[in-house]
Amino acid sequence: MRKLATIRRVDKLLPIEKADRIELAVIDGWTCVVGKGEFKVGDCGVYFEVDSFLPIEPRYEFLRSRCLKTLRGNKGFRLKTMRMRGVLSQGLLMPMKHFPEILRYDAGDDVTELLHVELWLPKAEIHMSGTMKGNFPIFIQKTDQERVQNLPMLWDAFKETRFEETEKLDGTSFTCYKFAGKIGVCSRNVELEINEENLRDNLYVKYAQDSGILKWLRENEAFDNIAIQGELVGHGVQGNHYKLSYQRLFLFDIFDIKKQKYMSPHRRGYIYSLMKRDGVDISHVPVTQPTIKILQKYGDMESLLKHADGKSELGDMIREGFVYKAVEGELSFKVVSNEFLLGEK
Ligand code: AMP
Ligand code: MN
Repeated sequence: MRKLATIRRVDKLLPIEKADRIELAVIDGWTCVVGKGEFKVGDCGVYFEVDSFLPIEPRYEFLRSRCLKTLRGNKGFRLKTMRMRGVLSQGLLMPMKHFPEILRYDAGDDVTELLHVELWLPKAEIHMSGTMKGNFPIFIQKTDQERVQNLPMLWDAFKETRFEETEKLDGTSFTCYKFAGKIGVCSRNVELEINEENLRDNLYVKYAQDSGILKWLRENEAFDNIAIQGELVGHGVQGNHYKLSYQRLFLFDIFDIKKQKYMSPHRRGYIYSLMKRDGVDISHVPVTQPTIKILQKYGDMESLLKHADGKSELGDMIREGFVYKAVEGELSFKVVSNEFLLGEK
């Protein structure tokens, strides 16, 4: 479960030009507009990340004109990235006094469930068409990535670490695995049944079949314990950001199930080349910088976020962002472009 609402401390307060009733609070890597005088540096507040969907309650009524939305039949307030008076405001920070139900607290506490905050995910329906087999397998890591804004320690601890930079594509997460001779296909959070109906109608299972991934896994005894993970993009998927007339998988990770860890970019590249040689019809996410001390090169959060803004390698549309994966070791995180977030409907 993503922590959408947490207790956070205000790190900094910055004035906003030509605005005397609001100021900018900095909370870890996030910036958020607050009322002037509402907070002092060091104060705690409840911070709601972008993509939070808040219930209709009097304390959130001031959001009504900008944020009222319906999610699966229920009304609520959806938070997204906004530009206000020329500054970026992400999510919502509210003083503790609005939350009498939170009696004791510490910075970092998760209050998502307590406050009935849900994830704004209106396009989830497509993931669900088809027969489910069950939960996402526990022996494979899910593809979720932490946001750089939530990892302030990176800047001191990982300056020397080399990362692979790949473009973050906006589609849906796809996993196909072979483990102890068994083959499976999964969406982001569930495993799907590989049956006649799904082979015909389900986005993930059909793609696994048509691209030749299923056949390749079946016939390659050398790779018995791996999970192929990638982003499925294109026609009918998540608004089809890249305006494709077809669907295509872009590989971004290969998980070694026996060792319980991700393969290095190098090893992933090798296996990808074998799949291509054998005629499997997939691509790899664009590798924009193969090995680079990213935190050293871009210096601070602001520069790294700026770097994420730009055009996609896939066409004339803006890029969602980048994902960084340590060339050795397991650390990875995402940097989502603010330009992309501002353009979201
Ligand atoms: P989000 O889409 O914000 O939930 O970010 C995490 C998701 O990004 C993962 O679950 C993947 O499905 C997706 N993703 C897209 N491109 C990449 C990439 N190049 N590397 C890793 N994950 C990616
Ligand atoms: Mn995504």
